[in-house]
Amino acid sequence: MNIILIGPPGAGKGTQAKKIAAKYKIPHISTGDMFRETSQSGSVLGKELQGYMSAGKLVPDDLVIKIVMERLGKDDAANGFLLDGFPRTIPQAEALDKALSSVKKKIERVVAIIVEDEEIVKRLASRRVCSACGAAYNTITQPPKKDNHCDACAGKVVQRADDNESTIRKRLAVYKEQTSPIIEYYSRPGIVRKVQGSGAVESIFKAICESIEK
Ligand code: AMP
Repeated sequence: MNIILIGPPGAGKGTQAKKIAAKYKIPHISTGDMFRETSQSGSVLGKELQGYMSAGKLVPDDLVIKIVMERLGKDDAANGFLLDGFPRTIPQAEALDKALSSVKKKIERVVAIIVEDEEIVKRLASRRVCSACGAAYNTITQPPKKDNHCDACAGKVVQRADDNESTIRKRLAVYKEQTSPIIEYYSRPGIVRKVQGSGAVESIFKAICESIEK
């Protein structure tokens, strides 16, 4: 199954994507994770990516499309994949569809996680992530058991550079303008499923699985 997971920053896409990928045995392809990894390498490309991310801006379409198409060409994506954070603009969606149709494939589900803006600002300002394994924490609802160290791998738990209020608001505005039209774009083939993203992780996951299967 070829699935897109879409939703505003902080909707819980990363957490849900890991669970969906494990259940359906498909690779979780997160452009944000790929870009953060590249930016940590300190290369010229990494620095360029970091510049966009810390300003809350989107990375230019041609660059993103090239990186994602290379990733989708790997063997593990041959029998399905879960895209998290891509496509984020209509030109990215069009490029994806074109590339898939050239190999007689298509997107089969677009799962849109819906969360109110103010809840997102609250969630992201208190979000923390493990710098080693990417596990998600929250200073209010789910702090790590040991001060700033990951429960799973003991890596350092940090705040993402783009999780501050002014960048969060910019990212939300970018989502509304450029990314949310993708939901409409995919609505015609009848493959969009909207799921409420507030509540317990497990109950949201259950709703997502039901929406994928129906
Ligand atoms: P995320 O982890 O999905 O919130 O992505 C973090 C940042 O990476 C975004 O704010 C953008 O700067 C960049 N990014 C991730 N995916 C894309 C994409 N598909 N198109 C453009 N920029 C992206």
